[in-house]
Amino acid sequence: MNLAAFLHRTALLNPDATALGQGRARVATYREFARQVAVLAGQMTGRLGLKKGDRAAIVMANVPDYMVVKYACWHAGICAVPVNAKLHRREFAFILENCGARVCFTNAEKETAIAGLDGEIATLERIVSTGGRLWTEITAAAPVPMAEVEPDDPAWLFYTSGTTGRPKGAILSHRNLVSQTMNFFADVGNIASGDCIVHCAPASHGSGCYGIPHVARGAAQVFPDSGGFDPAEMLDLLQHWPGATFFLAPTMVVRLLNHPGLAEADTANLKLIVYGGGPMYVEDLLRGIDMLGQKFVQIYGQGEAPMTITGVTRAMHADSGHPRYRARLGSVGVARTDVEVRVVDAGDNALPAGEIGEVVCRGDVVMRGYWDNPEATAATLKGGWLHTGDMGAFDEDGFLTLKDRSKDMIISGGTNIYPREIEEVLLKHPGVREASVVGRKHEDWGEEVVAFVVANESGDPTPQALDQLCLDNIARFKRPKDYCFVDALPKNNYGKVLKTELRALLEAESS
Ligand code: AMP
Repeated sequence: MNLAAFLHRTALLNPDATALGQGRARVATYREFARQVAVLAGQMTGRLGLKKGDRAAIVMANVPDYMVVKYACWHAGICAVPVNAKLHRREFAFILENCGARVCFTNAEKETAIAGLDGEIATLERIVSTGGRLWTEITAAAPVPMAEVEPDDPAWLFYTSGTTGRPKGAILSHRNLVSQTMNFFADVGNIASGDCIVHCAPASHGSGCYGIPHVARGAAQVFPDSGGFDPAEMLDLLQHWPGATFFLAPTMVVRLLNHPGLAEADTANLKLIVYGGGPMYVEDLLRGIDMLGQKFVQIYGQGEAPMTITGVTRAMHADSGHPRYRARLGSVGVARTDVEVRVVDAGDNALPAGEIGEVVCRGDVVMRGYWDNPEATAATLKGGWLHTGDMGAFDEDGFLTLKDRSKDMIISGGTNIYPREIEEVLLKHPGVREASVVGRKHEDWGEEVVAFVVANESGDPTPQALDQLCLDNIARFKRPKDYCFVDALPKNNYGKVLKTELRALLEAESS
């Protein structure tokens, strides 16, 4: 089916429900949203001359029109290329050229960042800004019927965040995103008309993916005025919008928990916090449950299997009497309903519970491949399984614990050390707000463990105290040889800690 069918079904069932909101304001009902989409789609294939299967890029801030453009692409059978709006002009140019988009949609805020790229990139014919005259004209035409698509037709080129190397465009088909949506209902949560999702994370990534189940159920998509994540603004929006879902990177959850206004705020309207995209530390999660109640669901996924490999459900978060409760909270949960997940060795043989290997998965949610990159596609989809690049191990009950990406693993004296384990221990110190552990080159050992630590206001963690904590909790050889105290950890636009930068910092220091 065409993903836009979710929208048109909802427009029939809940025409007057709020579809789009900005700040506290209602911007469009589902009747209005569906009409805007059908009108713009007609002009995409008409006036803008796009053909089925062509790519249209979206370089827009987090605003309601984002949704109109994306759904219009689907309605017209065009593949949308949502680009993280906070990238550098050179990165925009790379993605626009790589995907061969003929048209790029933008808004007033991002116009200057991409101005002129239509003259520099041969395939890019036009930039259309929602602030311009052309937009006014193409949004005032007549609606057209929805295009027929095949389930495997590309719907979304999802550019990986590229924490190392150049981003690659994962081809997500209509089938992949329908599967992601049905998996949301199966494992993550129920949504009803009258609920909402607040897009405080970029619509080009996970939050945008989770917009789809909300459209399918007639819930509102709300865009904060700031266009991003500001804890005070989120708490204010909660006073206005009921049944709210937030999709947050774990680092954003921590920022919300650390916000001084949280204790006094009324959070009754907060229905669900879906977190994922990076490790959530158990101490932070327990604090979150304590402060906000049982509103948490964890998802583990990647652009190549959008938001859907494993998960920790709300019920698992609440099962505090379980003998392995803490271990389960520190895991990424169990295989999602519609996904097969294995841990394999270098020869792709499935490993038994307890053994660490690469996490692979297959199912309808897995991408078709990378855009214009057959080598990477063949390597990543070897044998019909998506090779995630993440290392992990299952326990006897089918809970998967990630042991860091293979590139983040530290090999010291021939032994594998997984930073996550050490980070969990350091975060037990009441004076530690954030911790990230990386390897530093060492002549004798290959690598040695170094911890970057951000202290909070209440404490002044000393290397001696942290060392003792490690000695009390983990094997001696794993404990950091050095502690670097910093004001903040470097993060990308999705809130992921950039270990590559931390390693580069150490290299620069030692050279
Ligand atoms: P991206 O494709 O940019 O969303 O990045 C996906 C990567 O983020 C995964 O391969 C994991 O390394 C990491 N990741 C995603 N979800 C989780 C999670 N719940 N816990 C730990 N790491 C995660």
